[in-house]
Amino acid sequence: MTASGRFRREHLLVSNSGPDGEGYHYCTGCGRIESAKEPEMNLFQAHPRPFLSDEDEPCSGFTASRIVLGTDFVTDISLFALRLEAPFSLRPGNAETNTALRTICEAVAKAACRMLEIESGEILAEYRPSFTLGGAAGSEVEVFIYDTLSGGAGFSTQLATRACAYRKPYPS
Ligand SMILES: [Zn+2]
Repeated sequence: MTASGRFRREHLLVSNSGPDGEGYHYCTGCGRIESAKEPEMNLFQAHPRPFLSDEDEPCSGFTASRIVLGTDFVTDISLFALRLEAPFSLRPGNAETNTALRTICEAVAKAACRMLEIESGEILAEYRPSFTLGGAAGSEVEVFIYDTLSGGAGFSTQLATRACAYRKPYPS
């Protein structure tokens, strides 16, 4: 496997499609939100508001179903392109690929926080197939590391320039 890195300050769109990708139900009347998969409360009937209210009646606002939550913010991002050689392959969309890349992302984010001596969670990592023929074939993937602080704290951008040190094992 070979890797290369680059960094930028960019808009990052983060989305959350909920447990099993089934989304969320969202009441536009009171703002209460429940996962579609395992709701604690049925928002399609009158329900208590998630805050103290002078209203005597429960909320019966319109509920949008199966929405995906998302936000975008400007932050510092380092993108690492990984090239795999046969027999290794990470084809997009299958469970093995998702498990392998999720594991890599967790390990990379943890190692990055240790290397930079910052709190866990100040850097997170996500993955995607490369937008190339190799990406479609499972031989090229991208892992991007970003600062969770809106506006960026400059942590992730240090990683692209320190990629060599980043690949060394840490003493336990
Ligand atoms: Zn409501």
